[in-house]
Amino acid sequence: MRGEVHFDMGFRAMYAADSSNYRQLPIGVILPRDAADVEAAMAACRATGAAVLPRGAGTSLAGQCANVAVVFDFSKYMNRLGAIDPDAKLATVEPGIVLDRLREAAEVHHLTYAPDPATHSRCTLGGMIGNNSCGVHGLLGGKVATPRKCPGRDAPSRRLLRPSTSTNVAASAGYSSSTDGAKTTLAPSALASAQSASKVRG
Ligand SMILES: Cc1cc2nc3c(=O)[nH]c(=O)nc-3n(C[C@H](O)[C@H](O)[C@H](O)COP(=O)(O)OP(=O)(O)OC[C@H]3O[C@@H](n4cnc5c(N)ncnc54)[C@H](O)[C@@H]3O)c2cc1C
Repeated sequence: MRGEVHFDMGFRAMYAADSSNYRQLPIGVILPRDAADVEAAMAACRATGAAVLPRGAGTSLAGQCANVAVVFDFSKYMNRLGAIDPDAKLATVEPGIVLDRLREAAEVHHLTYAPDPATHSRCTLGGMIGNNSCGVHGLLGGKVATPRKCPGRDAPSRRLLRPSTSTNVAASAGYSSSTDGAKTTLAPSALASAQSASKVRG
């Protein structure tokens, strides 16, 4: 692996909590640099039967990022913006990118990404997809999984498109995605594409 692998007590303690009141000591922590790292680490976890837990900024409020599992933290390295296609209103990003970094880049094209949790300066696209996040503009733009068309004078020209994960490393590593209440065992997405909404003005 090119990224970091930590099984020491200090790192495990750091990742024992998210923004909820839950505490669970993880088995270890992986900081992948790229999709190949994710694939290699996932294969090792599968071979040993270890549960995996993807993590962005860890701002979840219901214990989604606290579990006895190998934590994959995408926020340190896998946070790059790929490309923004203003015509297709499509942004390709790595899952650890912070929402505001995407919105700043989209702003240049007078585009924005509609779901905006209060943690927008910290939360990541991977975590937003995992939580199906929304925000104060949810009435206008909808949630991550269920975007809405923007109301307004020229609404028909303002398409809100769906975000989707385009590479599911989990599938190739033999994991399937499942959620179990607060203990989420969603498999990590190594690449996410976020489709943007035209900026709502006024
Ligand atoms: C003060 C405060 C205010 C908040 N306000 C809002 C709000 O207005 N609206 C709202 O919707 N939420 C809100 N939240 C909750 C949270 O901030 C959001 O849901 C945010 O989008 C989570 O992003 P994150 O990067 O922190 O995700 P994390 O907490 O790191 O992860 C969230 C989920 O996604 C999974 N995940 C992370 N990365 C990946 C990946 N690469 N592949 C697959 N799964 C992955 C995790 O396993 C976890 O289940 C708030 C939280 C706080 C503390």
